[in-house]
Amino acid sequence: MSDIIQLLPDHVANQIAAGEVVQRPSSVVKELLENSIDAKASVIKLIVKEAGKTLVQVVDDGLGMSVTDARLSFERHATSKIKVAEDLFQLNTKGFRGEALASIAAIAHVELKTRQEEDEVGTEIKIEGSEVIAQEVCATPKGTSICVKNLFYNIPARRNFLKSNSVELRHIIDEFHRVAMAHPDIRFEMYHNGSEVFSLPASNYRQRIVHIFGGKTNEKLVPINEETELVTITGFVGKPEFAKRTRGEQFFFVNNRYIKSAYLNHAVNAAFEGLLKDKTHPSYFIYLQVDPKSIDINIHPTKTEIKFDDEHALYAMLRSSIKHSLGQFNVAPVLDFERDTSFDTPYEFKSKSAKPPVIEVDRNFNPFQDKASSVSTSSSGSGNKSFQRFKKEPAGSWENLYVGLESDMSHSSKEEDSFSSVQFETTEVTSKLFDESGEKELDHHITYQLKRKYIVTTIKSGMLIINQSRAHQRVLYEELLKNITMSNAISQQLLFPLKLSYTHQEIALLSNVQEQLQNTGFVFEKLDDGEVEISGIPTNITESEVSFLLDQLLGDLGDEVPDSSFSQTDLLARSVAKSVAIKTGVILETEQQQHLVNSLFACTEPNYTPDNKPIFITMSVDEIDKKF
Ligand code: ADP
Ligand code: MG
Repeated sequence: MSDIIQLLPDHVANQIAAGEVVQRPSSVVKELLENSIDAKASVIKLIVKEAGKTLVQVVDDGLGMSVTDARLSFERHATSKIKVAEDLFQLNTKGFRGEALASIAAIAHVELKTRQEEDEVGTEIKIEGSEVIAQEVCATPKGTSICVKNLFYNIPARRNFLKSNSVELRHIIDEFHRVAMAHPDIRFEMYHNGSEVFSLPASNYRQRIVHIFGGKTNEKLVPINEETELVTITGFVGKPEFAKRTRGEQFFFVNNRYIKSAYLNHAVNAAFEGLLKDKTHPSYFIYLQVDPKSIDINIHPTKTEIKFDDEHALYAMLRSSIKHSLGQFNVAPVLDFERDTSFDTPYEFKSKSAKPPVIEVDRNFNPFQDKASSVSTSSSGSGNKSFQRFKKEPAGSWENLYVGLESDMSHSSKEEDSFSSVQFETTEVTSKLFDESGEKELDHHITYQLKRKYIVTTIKSGMLIINQSRAHQRVLYEELLKNITMSNAISQQLLFPLKLSYTHQEIALLSNVQEQLQNTGFVFEKLDDGEVEISGIPTNITESEVSFLLDQLLGDLGDEVPDSSFSQTDLLARSVAKSVAIKTGVILETEQQQHLVNSLFACTEPNYTPDNKPIFITMSVDEIDKKF
């Protein structure tokens, strides 16, 4: 039998290697920016067209290359950065594999122009699919310009795999941010489709962060500084009150290289323990300087994960230095963990306006009690002190004690898991859950709140257990969809316009859904230049909820980029419904419970949340009977 093993031709080997280095346009951006930094540039321009699908160009004023180097730079394993394996342990450059340019040239049309300062003329090289098309002398400024056009032109499967322009552009901007944040002493500019996206002057770390994330960021930053033999830690953490629902602004840099580390992230969270509201994440921009010998950046092809020699010590130092800073800058003591009670007050059920009001006189009405019972889980807040005292004061005699207990129970704040106040209607059994008169009938049913989470009520066939938060999500979702499509939402005018700052990227995401947001009742005075100014908001939310709601929305928009305006509307309604819906843990008064139940069953699809989770379960009398 003849021999069958062959060496792969270079261009095929390069294409295969390219798969590791270049996943999408942003990978090219990262490699080119890093090469410019390694070449000691002081100004770096990034120019992209169509989210990098047609063009990624990086122009720098760095060292440039000689004629021979220019040609060699596209060979695999061609690098000026290491000579022997030992050099790997003394790395001070971004690149060292000598793979990037060879890989990129295998899967795109590449044009390089470069000139060293001392040379009079520069070199121009054109390569397509690893093949040199032209090499000539050219006039060009000192430094290097590399154009990468038509990425994946020869690998249609990869090209088709690319996401929409907005997704790819987001990846590019993320990469640009990471590199720019690690090198504030370099001036960076970015252009997309001919217009400037970022212009970041050379400055310091703090200003660089502020330039990227908007002017309001400055006041949110708490500096950290720690110098030990093992590591120097500098940078900033965001004040706890500005923590966001999305993990957006979390950055670690090791020796000015962006890295991801779940372990170190855990250390930061540990430092913030007890200072954050539920489900929020702190921002951080943390720069670690360590001896290059003590890390191994070789373990990941795109080098965002690294291995530290002494991870545990690093963890401890990071956590304690952040704790120290939070304490020193007096961040911790001024925190107010009280929940805003307006979060918990259910809104008006607009859709129920046709129902004539029923006037009931509650002889036990006590305004203090009323207010307090809408306060959430917290029992030590200043807002409900009078109520607490009223409840806890020992009564003079046992009769009084008993009375107190009774009234507590009627407000369903105690004995929540007791079923004693649930009434079952057992006389009639019908197969239908709700007939035409079902909704009306529910008005007179007794509802009961269980564990501040479920609303229990009776139906003809037995019992219904409704998840309060999910039910409210459904109600809000349908209401929002209707408002958005019919543009008939009412908005409440704010006394003072609300000003919020966002990154350019976030502003772009918000402007995509601006119209839909306006249809829900938002009135925007301004939505550009990193700032949002809002003068009107939907009637069913409060001013203090706005920034949370927009954060959540931005997170959702980022995770799941909608491709049609229909899915955009749907996503928006889902996101807003989720952030505004009453949560588990909120006490609902009887009327509120009944309103919710009625509104739920007035919905087109009361069975499931917009995310397809079941909203209620039923238990028939038969089933209950079987249990006895
Ligand atoms: P690596 O960065 O791992 O060395 P690359 O394929 O990215 O490998 O680059 C190969 C070589 O080309 C580099 O080592 C460097 O000498 C040269 N080079 C690449 N880009 C530039 C640039 N912008 N300015 C000067 N030299 C460059
Ligand atoms: Mg490189």
